[in-house]
Formats: sequence, C-alpha cells, structure tokens
Amino acid sequence: MQSKQALEPPKVRWDLSALFSGIDDPKIEETWKAANEQAEAFAEAFRGQINSSELSAETLAEAIRTYEAIYNEVAKPISYSGLRFSTDSGDPAIGAFMQKQRERGTEISIKTMFFELELQAAPSETIDALLNDPALTQYRHYIWAMRMYSAHRLSEAEEVILEETANTGSRAWVRLFEELTANQVFKLQKPGADAPIDATQQEVLTLLRDPDRATRQAAADTLTAGLKEMERVLVFNYNNLLQDKAVDDRLRKFEYPEHSRHLANELEKENVDLVISLCRKHYSLVERFYRVKREILGLPELTHIDRYAPLFDSEEEVSWDRAREIVLTAFGNFSPTLSAKAGEFFDQNWIDAEPRKGKQGGAFCNYNTPDTHPVVFQSYLNRMDDVMTLAHELGHGVHASLSRAQSYLNFHGTLPLAELASTFGEMLVFEKLVSEATLKDKLALYADKIEGIFATVFRQSAMFSFEKRCHQTRRADGELTAEQFGEIWQEEMQAMFGDSVALGDQHRMWWSYVGHFIFAPFYVYAYSFGELLVLSLYQMAKAEGPGFADKYVNLLQLGGSLNPHELMETVGVDLNSEAFWEAGFSAMEKLVTAFEAIWSEYQTA
Ligand SMILES: [Zn+2]
Repeated sequence: MQSKQALEPPKVRWDLSALFSGIDDPKIEETWKAANEQAEAFAEAFRGQINSSELSAETLAEAIRTYEAIYNEVAKPISYSGLRFSTDSGDPAIGAFMQKQRERGTEISIKTMFFELELQAAPSETIDALLNDPALTQYRHYIWAMRMYSAHRLSEAEEVILEETANTGSRAWVRLFEELTANQVFKLQKPGADAPIDATQQEVLTLLRDPDRATRQAAADTLTAGLKEMERVLVFNYNNLLQDKAVDDRLRKFEYPEHSRHLANELEKENVDLVISLCRKHYSLVERFYRVKREILGLPELTHIDRYAPLFDSEEEVSWDRAREIVLTAFGNFSPTLSAKAGEFFDQNWIDAEPRKGKQGGAFCNYNTPDTHPVVFQSYLNRMDDVMTLAHELGHGVHASLSRAQSYLNFHGTLPLAELASTFGEMLVFEKLVSEATLKDKLALYADKIEGIFATVFRQSAMFSFEKRCHQTRRADGELTAEQFGEIWQEEMQAMFGDSVALGDQHRMWWSYVGHFIFAPFYVYAYSFGELLVLSLYQMAKAEGPGFADKYVNLLQLGGSLNPHELMETVGVDLNSEAFWEAGFSAMEKLVTAFEAIWSEYQTA
C-alpha cells in the first residue's frame, strides 16, 4: 500500500482479436451467413423428429451437437458487440452495431425455437429411455434442465400469444420502471449548498455512503422525496406485475409464487426454505456487528442513514502492479492452477482496467465461448475496493477459463453456483490483505467484508421474504396499497436489524427502487444461497488443506455440465444438509468475533 499520492490509473485495455478484428471485420458477416444456413438446414433435418416416439439417442445427440455448434458461433458477434459497447457506449455506430447483432441473433433463435419446444413436449417415456444412452452422456444435464419445464409448458399457439402479448404486458411494465427510474432527476440539497442540484438515483444512493452524516441525511431526504413523487406509478406498476405473474403461474400450473424461480435455479423448495429459515435464525449476528459499528462511529443511535457509513476516510492507494501481485499471490497460495489461470488475464491482455470516457460503470467477466477466451471488465481507480473487485472478477475469470474444458451448452455455471468462484477469490484476497494490514486498516477491511456479506446473505433473504408476502397478499386479498407495501418492507427489514439500527419512516418507501422485484422476481435468494455456500466451502477448504484445492479446480472445470446438487457432491457437499449451511453462519460469526476483538485492541492500542 502506498500513501495518498494520486497514482495514475493503469493504461490496461483488452485485446478482443480472438473474436473479431473490428466492427467491420468481414468474418462477422460470414458468421451470420453461415449461422442462417445452418439454422435452416437444422430445421429442415430435425423439425418433427424430436417430439416423436421414434426418436433415437443418436438423432437427439446429433441435433443437440448441431444446435450447440450454431450457438457457439452466434455467441461471438453478440459478445463482441456487447464488449465493444461496454467500453464505447457513447459511440452511436457501436450502439447500432450492437442492436444489429441482437436482431440477427433473434432471427436465428426463431428458426431454431422449435427444437427446445419439441424437446420439452416429447413424451417422458421416450426421453427417459434415452437418457442413459452413452451417446447422450455429455448432454444429460442440458436435457434434464430443459425438461423440467415440460409440465409447465402450454400449447405452441398459447405460447405464441403469451410471448407476443408480453411485449405490451409484463415487459412493458418492466421497461416503464427502468425508464422512469433511470431518467428521474432528483433534487439534491447538499448541506451548506445554496441551491439544490440535479442528481440521478445512482448518485443519490452513492451519497448514502458518504462519511458526513448530514450529507447522508440529505441523500435520504432526496431519495425519499423522489420516490414519493413516483409513488402512484411505482405502486400501480408493481401491483400489475404481481398479478401478471399470478396469471402466468396459474396458466402454467406453478404451485406457489417462487416455484418458477426454483426451477430456473435447479433447486427444490425444501432446500431454499431451509436456507432462508437459517438466515432468520442468525439475524442476531447483524445486531452484534452494528452495535460495534455504532461505537466506532460514535453515534448514540444508528438509523437507516448510517448503515453504509464508512468507518474511516480511506486514503490508501494500491497500484495496478501491486494489485496484480496481491491477487496472484493469494490465488497461488491456495492453488498454483488458480494463479496460472488468473495470470493469463494479465499476460494476454484479457482485462480492460483503464477508466476512460464512454466506458460503462460496474465490472463483469464475460465468458465468450470455450474456443475463444473470457475477458474481465472494470475501471481500476487504485482503491482498495478495486482490488477486491479485481479479485471477484478474476475468480469468475478462472472459473470461465477452467470451464473451457466443456462444450458451449455446458460452459456456463448453473445459477446458484454462478458466484462461487468470484466469492471464493475475494475470500482468498481478503485474508491476504488482512494478514498484512495495520490495525486501523484491518478494522476497515473487516467492516467492509462483513457488511458485504450481510448485504448478500441477510438483506437478500429479507428481501425474498418481502417479495413472498407481496405476491401472496396480492393473490389472496387483491391489490396492495403503498402503506401495505411499506409495512411489509419495514417489518422484514427491521427484523434483520433487531435493536441495532432504527429504520425511520423514510425507509418505508425504499422497497420501491429495487429493480430485482420488478425484472427478476425471487432472484434475490440466489445471492444469499451462493454466498453462504462459499463461506461454508471456504471453511472446508481450510480444514482439508492442500487436498481440497484439486477438488475445487475439478469442480470449476465441470462448468455447467451437472446440476448444483451433483456439482457440489464432487467436493463432498450435500446441499440438503443443515450442518453444511450452519458452517457458513459459523464462518460469519468468526468474522464478527474477530471484528469485535480488533475493535477492543484498537481502543487500547
Ligand atoms: Zn460476480
């Protein structure tokens, strides 16, 4: 770590030539031409063949391989355009290029859509008899995942109607929410400023993390006033989406509101309910942490404006080279394979880290395809946070690299395990940073880590409970009022904090900006599930020592070729075991206990 001399951000840009050389690369046109021809030939050869009692394992395997080969190529121009757009979002030519690639992708998917529909509609007797055939070994999981929807599929004609009307129904409501919240101008009156300034929602939310309490209060006032202005629309909109889902679920014979999400996540209700109930059982950890945080901040009481307050002003800078060394050493101490795979990202220019105009915010790892390579995107500003982001994205990166052992349909990890390697990578780097930090830095590092984990584990599970009650209430009693939404939100969130943070009345409205409730109902629990899973797995890794690393690498190499239960069995984990999940909570407890101890030590030092 270096002291506060402003370091230059790194001039690190990615090399995308494994995909294409530019937006006018003739290979792009050739890819689409070939994909169209192949998609037509595919339909010609297999339409009517899949949903048929005559279907043989060989025919199905050949169909899947052909389908997979088409999508392996189609993914390239689509990925490439998205990546170009992410670093150049202000260039209309790039925007138009991206839109064009998406539209061409839709053309292909219309031509091949019959395949998945037929595979879902095919009689169980036929498919079950084929599943154990060696010709289909590689695609068992793909077929299984596809077939889970069979019981909830409607006739083709009904599916078409639902698909078409969704554009003016649920999707239109989602878009209305996105357009309203992305473009709303908040009037922000900063303390000491003469007049209010215009701010976006993101800017206002960021100020809730400001070190100055009056600024945080101003941000909370602004956010609440802005949401209040839109209250009628947001409440109406959410009520509609709740009912839209109720109708869809009824038609598709889903038994309860979160049923369809469990299917997408390949998890069972019992499993998810167990994890959510354990979260509730351990809410006291949240209280313990915020009591210490209140002491450190020296406040008589914490409210909704203090939960993200930083403990100290952070002044440390970490150069790009140093970050690289930290991450590679931390990964390497666990497994040389991890550091070798992460090292490639630096050596081969698979990272875009330079902040620059037109580059989008956020960070991600794009898998691309097994026959090219993944890339990582972030804007590195020399902060400690940026090192953790790099660790997170390179965790994904290593997972993607190792998954290249799989073919395209098995390449992407199954959903609840999607954040496995990223969270694991963060833990490795966190422990390394802590081991070298001063007492004060340690306190800040622990607080960040614990708050991050709580936001993922407890907040998301409380949000899941909120959603569940909203959907259930809408189904049982009709539309909800703004007050009812606020009441449920306040109850679920306050339960998590106990007496440690007093959520004020302003907070009652704050459910209404959470996009996940709108565009991905019940998605939130996957975050708690994934984080807890890694916390527990990380304890296993430490207990088992070096022997665990090989199993872990093997797990990452399996990509999405198995379902979550089967994948976790390869490292000796039973996802239905309460003891496994409890180990995740005990890992959290260790962090909180260490945080309390460092605080005592800091006070006496
Ligand atoms: Zn991630």
